[in-house]
Amino acid sequence: MTANLLDGKKIASEIRENVARRAEELKARGVVPGLAVILVGEDPASKVYVGQKEKACREAGFKSDLLRLPESTTQEELLSVIGRLNADPSVHGILVQLPLPSRIDPEAVIAAIDPAKDVDGFHPVNVGHLVSGVPGMVPCTPLGIVRMLESYRIPLAGKHAVIVGRSSIVGKPLAHLLLARDCTVTVCHSRTQDLAYFTRQADVLVAAAGRPKLITADMVKPGAVVVDVGINRLESGLAGDVDFEAVREVAGWITPVPGGVGPLTIAMLLENTLAAATRSLQ
Ligand code: NAP
Repeated sequence: MTANLLDGKKIASEIRENVARRAEELKARGVVPGLAVILVGEDPASKVYVGQKEKACREAGFKSDLLRLPESTTQEELLSVIGRLNADPSVHGILVQLPLPSRIDPEAVIAAIDPAKDVDGFHPVNVGHLVSGVPGMVPCTPLGIVRMLESYRIPLAGKHAVIVGRSSIVGKPLAHLLLARDCTVTVCHSRTQDLAYFTRQADVLVAAAGRPKLITADMVKPGAVVVDVGINRLESGLAGDVDFEAVREVAGWITPVPGGVGPLTIAMLLENTLAAATRSLQ
């Protein structure tokens, strides 16, 4: 059996068209959704991500401001830029591209963003909302994963979801989103003993560790839904965390890399920004 593909690119493009339509309607009511993206320094991968986000904003008819700050930027200077954006009514979303130079404390920077404009969903207020099941801004990658599974009508209630990775950006928020959809959730990490013991039990297996080919075919239950979040830059090109060619012969559904979770992440950033802009009218 060869697994069905979860085509993130296709789902993301449908979502983006829908966002563009809703942005048009909002414009007719006098509001142009605005996203400010802050990039500190010259990290090559960050530059690529920021470029993709800017392009997506333009295509959706948003106003997008990219603020490029030098590597030498101090925490104080960055906090002052955020303060200015918090006060600017034409900016509905603020995104600080991570990682930041080591001199700057990312927690302090995230905490300085107005939670209503925190389109990445990393602010402690939004984390609290997610954990307690209150509507708020939800991190884009886990939100995109859930949207993709729902678009393909993958049943979640009562299923065992095993997440490999416990970061605040992917693993932990995804665990809460899946719990809210009645999954039984197991979160694995680098100290998990016998990872394969857990992954083999997964009806839905999400790999978000940043380790190429961590998930091999013998670690996957036949028919499982396998979501590969990993983006590993190898000499041979981009690779996920899943040994795609071997695992697709065992799994029931699988995401490719690229073209799986990545495009959904950007689509959810647009949705979060549009939602913030819409709320600004209320
Ligand atoms: P991260 O902060 O480095 O977290 C990685 C997690 O994986 C940690 O919890 C770590 O455990 C765990 N881990 C590492 N090696 C492991 C192993 N051998 N076995 C089990 N667990 C292991 O990374 P992240 O930000 O969550 O990102 C994860 C991957 O997703 C990266 O490749 C990243 O580029 C990609 N990503 C993709 C998107 C997208 O849009 N597609 C978005 C975000 C991230 P410990 O906690 O014990 O260290």
